[in-house]
Amino acid sequence: MSGNSFISIRNATIASVIAGVILLAVPVLKDYVVSFLSWTWSGVVWCSEALIDSYSLPGWAWLLISILTLIGLINIYLAIKGEPEEPEFKSYVEDLMHGANWRWTWIGNQISNVWCFCPICDATLVYDDSSCRFYSDVNKTDFICENCNRTVVASISGGDKDYATGAVKREISRRIRTGEYKKH
Ligand SMILES: [Zn+2]
Repeated sequence: MSGNSFISIRNATIASVIAGVILLAVPVLKDYVVSFLSWTWSGVVWCSEALIDSYSLPGWAWLLISILTLIGLINIYLAIKGEPEEPEFKSYVEDLMHGANWRWTWIGNQISNVWCFCPICDATLVYDDSSCRFYSDVNKTDFICENCNRTVVASISGGDKDYATGAVKREISRRIRTGEYKKH
């Protein structure tokens, strides 16, 4: 084994151990650490066997090993970096509330585009919060299905359209906090 080869292997081993220790500090990456270490170990074994067999490898062989090592490291990096796992509640985008079927989208962790649909015909409901603009005993927003003879499908008391959608957003957050949303 030539001096240079020995130094290369020593440096690779030290780098692997350091990388392993860093990865171990992050519990989520444990699986990756295991595969990384086994991959490193098989690499080390293969290299030493190759060196013992031929005592020294030609330059092109080291180049090939370096390229393969680089590809391996890039793969591990991509696997670790990968797609960050979406929280489970991100798949919760629809629920029945106040008699209507509400749907929304997630922008980051924020509920967005929340609106209601008819539970019978799935038409987009139209709102009527005129009670909030004139003096009235009851401030409410009605959600009406034009496709079902203008039936009032949902009625949320307490305020206008923005209040009603805000109330629905709060209800969505509540169902996520309590875990109720998983029962759907
Ligand atoms: Zn309808």
